[in-house]
Amino acid sequence: MNGQIVNIMIALLTLFVAAILASHSSVYAQAQIPIRPPEKNKWIVDLTGQVPADAVTEINLMCTEIFEANNRELVVVVINSTDGRDHRKYATQLFNQWGIGSAFKDNGILLLAALGDRRAEIIVGDGVDYDPQVRSAEKIMDTIIVPGFKQGDIGGALYEGARACATRILSIASLQAPRDLRRADEIRWRQRAKPRWSLRRELARIGPWPWIIGSGLLGIVGIFWFRHFNRYRARGCLECGGETVLLSEEQDDQFLDRGESVEEQLGSVDYDVWACLNCEEVVKIRYGRWFTRYSKCPRCNYNTRCKITRTVVQATTRHGGRVRVDEDCRNCDYRKRYSYSTPRIPVSSGSSGGRRSRGFGFGRSSSSGRSFGGRSFGGGGRFGGGRSSGRGASGGW
Ligand SMILES: [Zn+2]
Ligand SMILES: [Zn+2]
Repeated sequence: MNGQIVNIMIALLTLFVAAILASHSSVYAQAQIPIRPPEKNKWIVDLTGQVPADAVTEINLMCTEIFEANNRELVVVVINSTDGRDHRKYATQLFNQWGIGSAFKDNGILLLAALGDRRAEIIVGDGVDYDPQVRSAEKIMDTIIVPGFKQGDIGGALYEGARACATRILSIASLQAPRDLRRADEIRWRQRAKPRWSLRRELARIGPWPWIIGSGLLGIVGIFWFRHFNRYRARGCLECGGETVLLSEEQDDQFLDRGESVEEQLGSVDYDVWACLNCEEVVKIRYGRWFTRYSKCPRCNYNTRCKITRTVVQATTRHGGRVRVDEDCRNCDYRKRYSYSTPRIPVSSGSSGGRRSRGFGFGRSSSSGRSFGGRSFGGGGRFGGGRSSGRGASGGW
């Protein structure tokens, strides 16, 4: 009975986790990462058509200057929606697929805005993701980008956001001072915007995994607690209703038969014996261990069968292997010897993988790993192959 309840609980927990995983991964297959623009000096990609043309021009000019004078890469991408995908992960994947920043220094920055989702992300490369820079990114998000979008000023939010990323995160001091109007806008935003704490933003920042893992752990702890509670709860005698006591391991041996004693010695099964203090009634309860190398013996039916498998011949790419199995029962004289073959190891087709290969290879050789050539000196291709593990800032409006 007890074991059944535990099994049901485990099954429910497994279903719960599986359902979350399934929903999570199905969401994944949706939004595609846009293709990196092949044009030189195109640093903003607007798939929505909502960014004003002058803002696009300004951003391209600014980012070209950032690149040509400082050898840094700042890219702005504007999409409508990630179709339910996590914005941070989407932006990080885009960053790495495009390879934003120098591969030597990983100093790129991506500013992504999903206008339909009302979400923005700043992703900084691994070389500029120290805490002060991440704090700067958060501040830029909270005081410039989000307030700008809230006002409906898409161009201003992107331009000022990108400029602040360049001056504060990449420490590019040489950027020309912005026009007076823009400066005034920025000051206005700065005065108005208080860094508010938002539950939605915090939850989005934390992501689903801590909750999934936490509830899973809680469930497991709950199962063990329930098992323990159920096992040692006080129980009345089934015959007379009197008080019963749990006998110690030494005391209960007299109530176990030979096979049960062997099981308890081997640790494959634990027996609890409850004796009534009032009458002669004795109740024996069997607890099979979850992790044991002993299984049920087909002859004596006790959990005393030991199975030892040994690899006699290791499988290689040229021939299959052979495994020998020795089965012995520790309780009766059951004995079984047999062996079976394992398949040949298939010859792998070399470097066919490359699922993680970075970039689409505009102007770059398709060699694996980092490409150190490319655009950093020549200026032919685009983006140097920088990487990011996804630090930066998120915002919603
Ligand atoms: Zn009794
Ligand atoms: Zn046996």
